[in-house]
Formats: sequence, structure tokens, C-alpha cells
Amino acid sequence: MKFENTVAAVSTPVAAGGLGIIRISGDDAISIAAKVFIPSGNKNVKNMKGYTAAYGTVIHGDKKIDEAVLLVFRAPHSYTGENVAEISCHGGVYVVSRVLRAVLDAGAEPAAPGEFTKRAFLNGKMDLTEAEAVMSLIGAQGEQGANAALTALEGALSKKINAAAQILITDSAYLSAWVDYPDDEIEEISSRKLLDDYKSVLSQLNELLIGYDAGRAVTQGIDTVIAGKPNVGKSTLMNLLSGFNRSIVTDIAGTTRDVVEDTVRLGNVVLRLADTAGIHATGNEVEKIGVDFAVDRVARCELVLAVFDLSRPFDSEDEKIIELCKNKLAVAVANKDDIAADFDKEKLSSFKSVVYISAKLGKGEKELAEAVESALGANSVDTSAAMLANERQRRCCEKAAECLQEAITGLELGLTLDAVTVSANAAIDELLALTGEKAGDAVVNEIFSRFCVGK
Ligand code: GDP
Repeated sequence: MKFENTVAAVSTPVAAGGLGIIRISGDDAISIAAKVFIPSGNKNVKNMKGYTAAYGTVIHGDKKIDEAVLLVFRAPHSYTGENVAEISCHGGVYVVSRVLRAVLDAGAEPAAPGEFTKRAFLNGKMDLTEAEAVMSLIGAQGEQGANAALTALEGALSKKINAAAQILITDSAYLSAWVDYPDDEIEEISSRKLLDDYKSVLSQLNELLIGYDAGRAVTQGIDTVIAGKPNVGKSTLMNLLSGFNRSIVTDIAGTTRDVVEDTVRLGNVVLRLADTAGIHATGNEVEKIGVDFAVDRVARCELVLAVFDLSRPFDSEDEKIIELCKNKLAVAVANKDDIAADFDKEKLSSFKSVVYISAKLGKGEKELAEAVESALGANSVDTSAAMLANERQRRCCEKAAECLQEAITGLELGLTLDAVTVSANAAIDELLALTGEKAGDAVVNEIFSRFCVGK
């Protein structure tokens, strides 16, 4: 796709740092760079070959702004597939913005969020799953998440989806040829072969769908609530997991009145944590709102860390927590193991997993991480395998699976092949939407608008 304009943006965080990079992409990228960058020696920017660098000075009019390095990429061998120039100058909010201004004054337009990656996608340098992987890689919070994003960036999901779509496309093309040219001697495709193909693709799609939730635990994070009666150590646990004093820890029961949110990494999984007000019966109106809210959060979250205090006897308030955890994915966290007294451990037997910790002393975090990973199935996630990375991809895959199931049912009921093909073609459309080969403009714009400027 041909873009008329050349765009530029700062591609590094706008903050004090060692280096700042201003990226320019488009037909005029190199001639614009030549207006603001004077190479040392007698190099001429316009004659620089792709994949070469020059050292020199950035100027704005007559004014010298910084010493910098210019990197040149020539179309189509660049990130965006267009001519690209990257100026690496000294990091720092002021210098970087001055260089960008010089570049914009020399004829570039400001790049929109995600515009470089969008151009890369529209120029066929990557498909949508790979573009989304760029965003996941930037946002990755841990090694597993970063590995999964890298696997997608290398095209693992695209290859799997393309291979699945290709099987269906070949069958559909064959069927339409057979329907459209009855006089030609095209051999009839057997229902048996169609059924086998559809079932094999369906099972691959189902595998991806099943792996999605476990994969999400390492890539996007799981909505998690820390619940328990007052003073069991919820805030202390939250602080331990967050690594700093975020929740208020006090000895007065009922001090966390609302929900504190934080995203933390525990072992290989990412948890979007909420520390709720202690769940207990209260006459205090303000506290009651917090308690109701906490009960509601527990009902809606995906994982509960149910905290119990080993230094006090099990009571009806603990019972209420166990009640709330019924039918939920939950890990019991038996806290204050350092001063454990007369708590009846048998009471926690309804939990699949009970971990003994001392949040105050920071003991038991590793065991907690293992219990959470195992509860979420995250310990079996293979980050080198194809994985659906977000809700958009999951929806496309799910719809494709539904359409394919319709096609299979149709074949089994002996419906005409025409009717079956309609469902199979709908499945193909969903798979092509997943990789972006057939995604609408609105979807594409939505995806890239979530990127940061400069990417
Ligand atoms: P919350 O009301 O459930 O959020 O409880 P807090 O985190 O505010 O803790 C209540 C009290 O228990 C504080 O005095 C903490 O220092 C103490 N506490 C929390 N965890 C532990 C622990 O593992 N061992 C001991 N000995 N005290 C703890």
C-alpha cells in the first residue's frame, strides 16, 4: 500500500535516558533526514545505502541541537517496508522533542499511535497476529509473557491459522469448481474427506481455545481478589506481592475500605490484584459499602486468594469466605505461619490447594507462586507453541470453530454440499479476519489505536 505522506515520532519513552530515537518513515524519510542531519566527513545522507549509519550533527535551521547517529533503511527492507531514517540522539525530554520538531519542520507529519506498525501491516511486512505480538512484547511483564509474544512475532500463530484456513480453502475451491462446472470431469470430493478435514481443523482450533486461558495467565494477567476477614494480613500480602507499601497496613480491623488495584507478577503468572476490605458483618455504613463491594468483586473475579489467620481460631467469618469461594478458582492462603496457634487446619480441606505463608516475613511466596501457577494451568503453558494472544483473536477462533461445527453437523445430517460450503466459507472468513488478511478497516484502526505513538 502506498502512503502519500512521511511520518515521524519519538520511538523511545519521553523521559531522561541514555538515548532517544526519532523514527521517520515514508518516501521522503531520507531526504527529510538530509535536511536536519549533517554527517561528519564528506558523507551525503541522500547517497547512504540501506542498513548503514553515519555520525554527525542534528540542526534546526542554523542552530545545532545535538550530536547523533543516523541509521538508514531503504524500502522495502525496513520495519515499515518504506524508506526509514532513525536518528539516535542523547536521551532527555528537551533534546528529543527539539529533534522531532526539526524533523516535522523539514516536512514530516506527526505519526499517529501505532502508525509505524500499521504501515508494516498494510505493506505486508507482518500480519495482524504479529502486529499484536509487537504490542504484547512491549507490554510483557515477565519472561513467559515475553517469550509467548516473541513466538507470535515469529509467526507461530499465523502459520497455524493459515495452514488451517488453507485446508478449508482448498476444499471449498474444489467444491465450487465441481458445482460451477458440472460438465467438466472434476472428480466429486467425498463427504468423508470433507468430514475428516473439517474435524481435523476443528480439533486444532479447539486446542487453541483450550490453551487460551492458561496462556492469558502469563500474557495478559488474571483478575484476582485477595479476600479474607479483617486483620488476617490481606494488605501485608498485597504489599509483599507488589514489592512496596501500597495498601495501608494497620492493626485496626477494617482499615482497607475499598479496593486497591495493582498488576503484579507471581512466578510466571501475571495477576491483576485487588485487595478488598475485610469481609465481615459490620454496623458501620461506610465500611459496609466496602464489604458489599468486596463480596461483589469476589463473585466477579477469576481467582481468589482466600487469606486465613493461623494465629486466631477459625470462626464464622472465615466460614463466610469459604462459602464465597465455592465454585470459584481459589487458593487458600494460611497466613501468620510464624505465630500459628489454635487454627483448625482441617477447616480448609475444601480448597484444592492450601499454602502456609508468613506475609509479614515474606516466607512462602515461592510456594504460593507454584500453587497459583498450577491452579491456573500456567505451569504447563508452552510459550514456544502457537497461542491466541487476546480476546479479538479468541473470538475469531471461536466463531470459526462454531461455523465448522455447523458444517460438520450438516455433513452428518446429509445436507446438500452447497449448504455445508456456506458454513465452511464463514469459518474461512473468521480465520482470515484473525490474521488480518480479511479484517475490516474499523478493526484494523481499533487495534493500532491501542498502540503507543512511536511504535
Ligand atoms: P488486613 O486487614 O487483612 O489487610 O490485615 P493487615 O495486612 O493490615 O495485617 C493485620 C496485622 O497482621 C498487621 O499488624 C500485620 O503486621 C499483621 N500481619 C500480617 N501478616 C502477618 C504475618 O505473616 N505474621 C505476623 N506475625 N503478623 C502478620
